[in-house]
Amino acid sequence: MDHKITFIEGDGIGPEVSNAARRCIEAVAERNDISITWDRQYAGLSAQKDTGSLLPSKTIDSIRRNRVALKGPLTTPIGSGFRSINVELRQRLSLFANVRPSRSIKGAPSRYEDVNLVVIRENSEDLYNGIEFAEGSRMASSLSKIAKKNLGRAVAHGSAIAFKTISKSGSSRIFDFAFDYAKHNKRKKITAVHKANILKFTDGLFIKCGESVAKRHGSIKYGEMIVDDVCAHLVMRPEEFDILVCPNLYGDIISDLCAGLVGGPGLAPSGNMGRDAAIFEPVHGSAPKHAGKNEANPTASILSGVMMLHHVGEAKAAKSLESATMKVIKANKRVTYDLKSRNPSTTTEMTDAIISEIG
Ligand code: NAD
Repeated sequence: MDHKITFIEGDGIGPEVSNAARRCIEAVAERNDISITWDRQYAGLSAQKDTGSLLPSKTIDSIRRNRVALKGPLTTPIGSGFRSINVELRQRLSLFANVRPSRSIKGAPSRYEDVNLVVIRENSEDLYNGIEFAEGSRMASSLSKIAKKNLGRAVAHGSAIAFKTISKSGSSRIFDFAFDYAKHNKRKKITAVHKANILKFTDGLFIKCGESVAKRHGSIKYGEMIVDDVCAHLVMRPEEFDILVCPNLYGDIISDLCAGLVGGPGLAPSGNMGRDAAIFEPVHGSAPKHAGKNEANPTASILSGVMMLHHVGEAKAAKSLESATMKVIKANKRVTYDLKSRNPSTTTEMTDAIISEIG
């Protein structure tokens, strides 16, 4: 098969880890008779240098056209006018579902051995969508007055205010996605994460939609759990979870917690999925203190590439690349500093080791 894929290196350690993933994908593609054409585009600081824009429309057009992208982490400069380039990219392309698998890898230092769960985070709503009013602003003052008049609730003078929005359509869409994902990936149980005991209308609506969608998918177990309880259980018995479906903000926090359960940010891949496009990227950021040193772990980017290969229907190549990566980590010889403190390998050496294991 021929695939055209948008490739965005990213900032900081981005070029090192993204090109490591690109090389691995090219190697596995060659051995499986797959043709990949990379449509190289820029976003973040690297795009700003050349085009003056942090998110050139050319890059968005390329993803819309190709429908699939492999992306490195992007740095959002403070005062750039963007809250986050990543959030903007996800919103412009309606990438409403963020899929973050966390799986124990033999050889990776971790307190747990048998974690195998997926966090599905709603990507477009909730407190995270950034509707905020500054302390002292007219809007903050008007909203405080409305709260006082309509609810009899006093908001402390000089408060900043943020909107938490949860819609019926957005919540039903993420649960539909999660149940479809469970079916396709032979997962058995979905847990909706919420705080509806306190946030009765917003999180209450989220779980109401979960219950309603669950009725249409009888073969998959459905349950609900309060977010603080989820955190305690994740630390005590993470093996009990299968798929966690979260509103945006809880999903952001819980997915990083889950990355920590299996060995840290260098190992955690993700996919941002929409109806018309998907972007695969490591969960971690641009880690500026490691940039240009050839020492960052390429695994999160490579496993994002594995997710991407599955997405474009290349399951055999995906499994082959995943198993080569697992072999190298398990052997714990040619791995980066975060997996081995004495004589760690460089990013390039670890990537070469993975390529040499591809069957
Ligand atoms: P970060 O994930 O970049 O780094 C935190 C720490 O995690 C690093 O110092 C390092 O110790 C470790 N780490 C991360 N990736 C690693 C890897 N591949 N190998 C080994 N160790 C690794 O988080 P941060 O420092 O909070 O953010 C830095 C920048 O990245 C910020 O500008 C932020 O906005 C951006 N960011 C981008 C994305 C994205 O593009 N999706 C995501 C998160 C943060």
